[in-house]
Amino acid sequence: MTRQELERLVDSLTIAEQVSLLAGSDMWHTVAVERVGIPAIRVTDGPAGARGTEFGTGPASLNVPCGTALAATWDPELVEAIGGLLGREARAKGARVLLAPTVNLHRTPIGGRNFECMSEDPYLTARTAVGYVRGVQREGVACCIKHFVGNDTEFERMSINSRIDERTLREAYLVPFEAAVRDAGVMSVMTGYNRINGPWAADSVELVDGVLRGEWGFVGLVMSDWFGMHSTIEAIEAGLDLEMPGPSRFRGQQLLDAVESGAVDRSLVRRSALNLLRMISRVGGLDDGGPEDESTRSAGPDVDIDIALIRRAGAAGMVLLRNESAALPLDPVELTNVAVIGPNAAVGQVMGGGSAHVTPTHVAHPFATLRTRLAKFEVDVVHAEGCNINKLLRELKPDLCTPIEVQFYADPEALGDEHATPLSASVIPSATLLWVDDPTARDHVDPCFGARLSTTFTPDVSGAWQFSIESVTPARLMIDGATLIDNEPMPSGGSFFGLGKQESRVSVNLVAGVPCGLVIELRRPRIGLALSGLNVGAQAPTVGDLFTDAVSAAAAADVSIVIVGTNDDWECEGWDRTTLELPGDQDELIRRVAAVSRRTIVVVNAGSPLAMPWIDEVDAVVMAWFPGQQMGESLADLLLGEIEPQGRLPVTFPARLEDTPAFEHHPGRDGVAEYREGRLIGYKWYDTIAREPLFPFGFGLGYANPTIVGAEITGSGDVLVTVANDADRDGIQVVQVYVARSRSADRTSQQGSDEPIQRLVGFVKIDVPRRQTVSASIAIDSRAFKTWSIEAHAWVDADGPFELRVGTSSRKPPIHLNA
Ligand code: BGC
Repeated sequence: MTRQELERLVDSLTIAEQVSLLAGSDMWHTVAVERVGIPAIRVTDGPAGARGTEFGTGPASLNVPCGTALAATWDPELVEAIGGLLGREARAKGARVLLAPTVNLHRTPIGGRNFECMSEDPYLTARTAVGYVRGVQREGVACCIKHFVGNDTEFERMSINSRIDERTLREAYLVPFEAAVRDAGVMSVMTGYNRINGPWAADSVELVDGVLRGEWGFVGLVMSDWFGMHSTIEAIEAGLDLEMPGPSRFRGQQLLDAVESGAVDRSLVRRSALNLLRMISRVGGLDDGGPEDESTRSAGPDVDIDIALIRRAGAAGMVLLRNESAALPLDPVELTNVAVIGPNAAVGQVMGGGSAHVTPTHVAHPFATLRTRLAKFEVDVVHAEGCNINKLLRELKPDLCTPIEVQFYADPEALGDEHATPLSASVIPSATLLWVDDPTARDHVDPCFGARLSTTFTPDVSGAWQFSIESVTPARLMIDGATLIDNEPMPSGGSFFGLGKQESRVSVNLVAGVPCGLVIELRRPRIGLALSGLNVGAQAPTVGDLFTDAVSAAAAADVSIVIVGTNDDWECEGWDRTTLELPGDQDELIRRVAAVSRRTIVVVNAGSPLAMPWIDEVDAVVMAWFPGQQMGESLADLLLGEIEPQGRLPVTFPARLEDTPAFEHHPGRDGVAEYREGRLIGYKWYDTIAREPLFPFGFGLGYANPTIVGAEITGSGDVLVTVANDADRDGIQVVQVYVARSRSADRTSQQGSDEPIQRLVGFVKIDVPRRQTVSASIAIDSRAFKTWSIEAHAWVDADGPFELRVGTSSRKPPIHLNA
């Protein structure tokens, strides 16, 4: 629709209808106005896939690499292709808005949602996000980029006040949002849960109305994060259009009353309603007639192409960090037996936890995939778990259970009444349940019900089994009629976005093959919000000694591939990590394996940096991130040399947590996170304090390692770089350009004490065929020679002179060009 048509449409609505559009109808939908043919539209998370409206129980989705993995490709075009895939997936879920990408910066390497975000560097995040948004939006789906802004920790996540100075905001944290608005035309923005320099992000007149709309000319829709609204008047004045989720807590009648009393100008309601209608119109949603049913895209050539794309992107993001004596690639012809060891070997971790979680259509796990891929060469592949890294017990495995039945009762107390009749009964695929509305479909605002899960569990090993429950409201676990856990007294601070009770565990001796009746009862009284959930965990007794088995497997193999890392309980929305250490005994496992193994390849499967105290004891290290559902295939492609390692670190890997920029001020005190390191985030900090990281930003090896043999600044201001590959295999290089004030510059001038010594302003990924030399042009960021002036409240030319430094990581790029 044209602007005039949209204006006519909004003006044809009553004020009550306009107000009704400004909050969701439920968790994932806007409100329809049937009288004039405005349909409801569906929104969905984001960013690792398009989940649809249900956690765990809805139709499965394709799962793409996490944010850090995408940024590690240094390939915005590839990310754009992934965006296209996500747009198609969102459509299959009937959604017109994908709640993604997440572009907050890695202020500290232990941020709980870092895996969702892309990088510590604003420019790399911006370029990656622009690719992502373009790809998604081409498919008729709006991206809702998040979380605007300064939402960089999970500590006190619903209330923390991020105190960030103006220049740091402009030169770091706002940059990816600005690029998405200006360069990709992102259609929607989600405000953060946090406060920003005082006001709630959702109420920030300065940032939403002033910067986003006023300065950047954003014409799309601004929505709140889920339950992240705090006001009726301030938010609409700031320009926050849509309260999510619904039904509304701050709008509806309250907003109507505020309009009627004159406290809110009706033009603000009209403006926000128009923003919503414009966005719906731009994605083609006005013709939809309401959201379609959700489905998994049916198999076929298009889906096969998308799955191949996930495999390619997963491998492209993997970073080869060490490769002594060309330990990789593996040549299957030379191998007889391979040990695949580690807690993430049999079950690879393909994504992080929280709202980004989707149910993948299929997962290629590392051990099974490597075994299949190497079987063709008659290589024997064995597995050993090595150690356990559970933070919480893993989910009860449905394959040891008879179908799990759930019965719902109208009254939570009816669970104690054997004559009570259930409202409904059904079979569920797993005992991990997250309800964001009422599973009994009676009261979606504040449901009240009882639920009983029952199954017969038959252990496959004898010994001390552990069982656990975590839930938002009280639950009990019973085995053969005896109550073994009642978690009513447990404090909150567990799963379910921090709203759940902490995990309760019990240990029970069971005999292999002897079935027992397992029942979990959940009482769900009214608690003032829609969310409820239950996780049931089970852990088999350890048979034998995991370390000993791993070490024997390693000693007998030609190569040990040790797959270590975290999981979606360690890296999850809701909490930050507390350390850089690998969880559990993984450091010790790696050392013991390396001591006996002929060749030790360590694969780190995590969403953000980890310490590697064993680095000098192993032959090769691959940072695999959370690479999406094709993990095993992507990894096999890389390890077997079928794809060239081409990922480069989008974050510095520090040697110690104490070395990191926000260490002194993280996570915050008295409700405030002080960003005292200012602009010195990531490599800019390590460069400035001359602290050697474990691995620098931008670093990564290939099997061929083309070198930069020339660089010059062209007439148009680009950098023309020439790269030579003298290896016998095709190579790929990622050439990076950093701007720095040259030595002759007066470094005491107005650019401030937190002025980074250098910052990334351009990069290019170049294919360099074997024994060839290739040139490529690198466009330089238009802000390369500018700085934000607090006095002028504007971008101004920075004091020079400058040089452009060209290299393959942030550490001492070797070529310096006078700019
Ligand atoms: C997250 C958002 C997400 C929303 C809906 C919130 O907890 O912060 O990123 O889009 O939930 O699931």
